[in-house]
Amino acid sequence: MRFLPVFLDLQAGPVLVVGAGDLVRAKLRLLAAAGARIRWFATDGNHEVSGLDAADAARIEHAEGDPLTADLRGVIAVLCAGAGDIGPAMSVRAKAAGLPVNVMDDLVHSTFIFPAIVDRGDVVVAVGTGGASPVVARRVRERIEAMLPARIGDLASFIGRRRKSMHGRIPEMQLRRRFWERVVDGPIGALVLAGRSNEAEQALVSIADPSAFAGATASGEAEGRVTLVGAGPGDPDLLTIKALRALQDADVVFYDELVSPEILDRARRDASRVPVGRRVGKPGIGQDAINKLLIAAAKSGQRVVRLKGGDAFVFGRGGEEVEALREAGIAYSIVPGITAGLGAAAQFEVPLTFRHEALRITFLTAHKASDAETVDWSTLTDEKMTVVVYMGMTAAVSVRAGLLAAGRSPQTPAGVFARVTWPDAQAAVGTLNELPDLVGRIDGGPAILVIGDVVAHSAPWRHQNLNQMISKLLEAAE
Ligand code: SAH
Repeated sequence: MRFLPVFLDLQAGPVLVVGAGDLVRAKLRLLAAAGARIRWFATDGNHEVSGLDAADAARIEHAEGDPLTADLRGVIAVLCAGAGDIGPAMSVRAKAAGLPVNVMDDLVHSTFIFPAIVDRGDVVVAVGTGGASPVVARRVRERIEAMLPARIGDLASFIGRRRKSMHGRIPEMQLRRRFWERVVDGPIGALVLAGRSNEAEQALVSIADPSAFAGATASGEAEGRVTLVGAGPGDPDLLTIKALRALQDADVVFYDELVSPEILDRARRDASRVPVGRRVGKPGIGQDAINKLLIAAAKSGQRVVRLKGGDAFVFGRGGEEVEALREAGIAYSIVPGITAGLGAAAQFEVPLTFRHEALRITFLTAHKASDAETVDWSTLTDEKMTVVVYMGMTAAVSVRAGLLAAGRSPQTPAGVFARVTWPDAQAAVGTLNELPDLVGRIDGGPAILVIGDVVAHSAPWRHQNLNQMISKLLEAAE
């Protein structure tokens, strides 16, 4: 990020505008409508601007003379259409005076740029692309426009008018934040968004004990809780809306090794982020210690998110954590995530079930060869069963041995799907017999093994067949 979005106080002084033409007039309209006072040097002497109401037009002062010698005292920002040398020269002057300056279509001489704006009264959203693509910025703005309730600005103003008075009644900051969250998310917020501010006002006034409303316990402490959140296999766009909401509400996030930085980025900016992952071969923090951390954080009133790769209840030890929380009397909830096996299925087009061909799925883990030896492979004889193996990369030889011993054909299609939904995802497909070689072709984990006829429907399988066919044709042609 090169340009940090900040908001300029237009009450603080005039904006100096230099230039002529349609683009300058569009900016004048924007600034005037936003309530700015404007001092405008029209370099072609034409001070006419259409489409402004009288009050907005009155805030535009028509300046004469050379803008390069103009008095900059009191000016809060400089905007210049950069035809010729005037842009760079104004940029030098503005910088010398310590003023933010925008030279239109000239990033080099600009110290600020205009974002695309969503304007809903007190709620203003600025969208930027660092100047790279105004079209992308506009598309993002459109999406945000569509997502926001029409009266979201009214809701902000409604709260803004009452924030101060609540300060005294709920001195504790965290509790106060929670109070307003309950207002925004609950019936009072809904009333404002429905245009029924008077009723919302009455409901707010009738809250006798704001601290209790905010969720404080009898001891005066806010009640903490833990949300177990499945982060999915890696692509942040695969987070559920509930997962996003939990991350946005979190005071602290305890996350596993497999959770990507892009996903952690979606957590509330002020949330603490604590890694508690184990990595294969390295011990990391023990499960007991993790349980204790979760409990202690919740007891101190924090909103805790326990963020796990994939789904917490699929080889994620979520069950143990939930049991520990229950024993400690901590409130918790669970947000499912897309488990790696399903991520692989979608990305590489492996239908895990298929009419007549695959009627059952088994998810199993074979962390080490010794784990694989404890698997009762005789339950996996059914040819119409798709077998999905987690943590199976190092145990591929044992997985093959087990399935062959169970009577599965060595020709059963098999696939290794690595770093699923990450930017460098990779697949290798072949037969059960080749499973260890397939693992060898992968440039690193994590990876999922899938064994079953359905792998023959997968995209990598089809590509491989196509390539083989092409080579054969080429050979025949030679
Ligand atoms: N709870 C997780 C699984 C944790 S066990 C889930 O539901 O997905 C860790 C194993 O998950 C890894 O060894 C690997 O087999 C698999 N895994 C996790 N993320 C993966 C990814 N992006 N691509 C392929 N396999 C992945």
